[in-house]
Amino acid sequence: MSPRPSSGWTRTLGLLALILLGALALGLLAGQVWPVLTATALGVVAWHYWRLRKLLLRLTSHRRLPPARGEGVWNEVDRLLHRSQDDTRNRKRRLVQMLRAYRAAAAALPDAVVVLERNTQRVQWFNEASAGLLGLNYPADIDAPLGERLRPLPIAHWLASGRHAEPLLDVPSPVDPALRLSMRLIPYSQELWLLVARDVSKLMHLEQVRRDFVANVSHELRTPLTVVHGYLDMLDPADQPEWAPILEEMRRQSQRMTQLVEDLLTLSRLEAQDTVSDESVGMTSMLATLRREAEALSKGRHAIAVRDEAQLDLWGSTRELHSAFSNLVANAVRYTPAQGRISIVFARREDGVALSVEDTGYGIPASHLPRITERFYRVSTSRSRELGGTGLGLAIVKHVLQLHQARLEIESEVGRGSIFTCVFSADRAHPRDGTRSGAGSERTQQSSTRQA
Ligand code: ADP
Repeated sequence: MSPRPSSGWTRTLGLLALILLGALALGLLAGQVWPVLTATALGVVAWHYWRLRKLLLRLTSHRRLPPARGEGVWNEVDRLLHRSQDDTRNRKRRLVQMLRAYRAAAAALPDAVVVLERNTQRVQWFNEASAGLLGLNYPADIDAPLGERLRPLPIAHWLASGRHAEPLLDVPSPVDPALRLSMRLIPYSQELWLLVARDVSKLMHLEQVRRDFVANVSHELRTPLTVVHGYLDMLDPADQPEWAPILEEMRRQSQRMTQLVEDLLTLSRLEAQDTVSDESVGMTSMLATLRREAEALSKGRHAIAVRDEAQLDLWGSTRELHSAFSNLVANAVRYTPAQGRISIVFARREDGVALSVEDTGYGIPASHLPRITERFYRVSTSRSRELGGTGLGLAIVKHVLQLHQARLEIESEVGRGSIFTCVFSADRAHPRDGTRSGAGSERTQQSSTRQA
């Protein structure tokens, strides 16, 4: 422990007093009091300057000087400075070690990590994986604008818009298009962004294998099911009256399986598509078809109203849109008890145009809404099965709307009913054209309808 500063001061002042007293005594002996005192005081001042210089040397020197030994204020100041320099050096060393460790960790990451200047999108730093995944070279690409550097990738616009909340999924790597990347922008300071690119080729491959598997299995099941269905239709319950209930149940189940296979095939087809055809979808005939289907499924149990308040047609795929709308209509019929009301309304909205299917049915508890469009997600599995549901209807609706850059809005209250609204942007709508609407209605006839 170093002595308290006050003891150093006392010693220094004591020493100064002793020197001055000694000088006074010497001056009295020599009969030259003032000259001796002045010379001594000058000596003391010079000594202080010399100690000050030593301190300055310590502060400016790049070498690590040993601490002063001995007592006195100057030595104490020197030791304190030495200690604070030591502390600073140690802190600096720890910081450098930490920085090195962080850099080594970032460099060792299997994902490409690029530090970007936020405004110019120029590269500040990147790790080793960035060479293999993004084709960046050190040092040539330091300070290069990343959007231009990775030009074959459609990321310049993404970077410029700074849409860090939305990752870019499944983009080909500029090094090898077979490598699929998922990219994410993370703002981590006022000036800097972090771009993280991950190799998702294996994941994409597995996803493709899964899709192919589901599509193939569904396809393979279709033919035997058609045969079973056909033979069941040929059997007449009147021939064996005691078998009639069994036959009826077998028919119902084979119909449900056929519907499940059809829905799985529809989903597989939708998943395989990036875009849809942009034909004119005649909404007059679409609404007429939806009314016919609703009436056929309801068999007179519900009051069905159809209103066309928009008087517009849509751009998109008639087949897919019909598939989505008819799923909503089938659900409305299925989940609304007899005597309920179902309204299908096509109307303009502030942000575009919307088709809504409203019912006065069972409704959906709010806690189920966030997951309701997931495959096989049902509020009540038994009710859905009993009513012929496959659990895929809303997943199909979601996919179709995504392909049309549209969204699904759901409002529902248990015991009062639900409103499912498909909202399309204004550029998906266009003024009605008789000829085109006719073409739309032709395709509508081909699309599949689920059974209630
Ligand atoms: P399902 O074939 O079971 O109807 P969907 O994906 O079409 O599958 O719907 C998922 C679940 O959402 C249904 O099981 C049902 O619980 C609920 N649901 C869908 N539409 C409605 C509706 N109009 N009213 C009440 N519940 C609904």
